[in-house]
Amino acid sequence: MASVFTKIINREIPSKIVYEDDLVIAFHDIDPVAPVHILIVPKKEIPTVNDVTEADELALGRLFTVAARIAREHNIAESGYRLIVNCNKDGGQEVFHVHMHLLGGERIGPIRVRSK
Ligand code: 5GP
Repeated sequence: MASVFTKIINREIPSKIVYEDDLVIAFHDIDPVAPVHILIVPKKEIPTVNDVTEADELALGRLFTVAARIAREHNIAESGYRLIVNCNKDGGQEVFHVHMHLLGGERIGPIRVRSK
């Protein structure tokens, strides 16, 4: 079954798209956790980082150039931002189609690996 992100790519469900090219798409997260929370997604449906191959390097490298471009466009390049890619259960992955979170617009606290 197609992932929710493939459905967004195919315009089967709506989203607020901010960027698209032949390899990737970027759109606002439906449940933002920061003033800027955008997901950058390869159009190829790769379930997790564990499934990445060398053939995906161009598309996955594109995630970074698009992240930098979107950060500039949202005026958070200089203030800063965080890029996150979750993998599987312990990583907190909920949508099994590889994606990068771009978070910014406010100070994001330190990464806490262990929850108290
Ligand atoms: P994950 O936990 O897998 O790294 O992140 C999945 C993200 O996708 C979550 O932040 C969630 O809010 C977002 N998300 C899930 N379903 C949709 C959707 O239908 N539309 C959009 N725009 N974001 C979604």
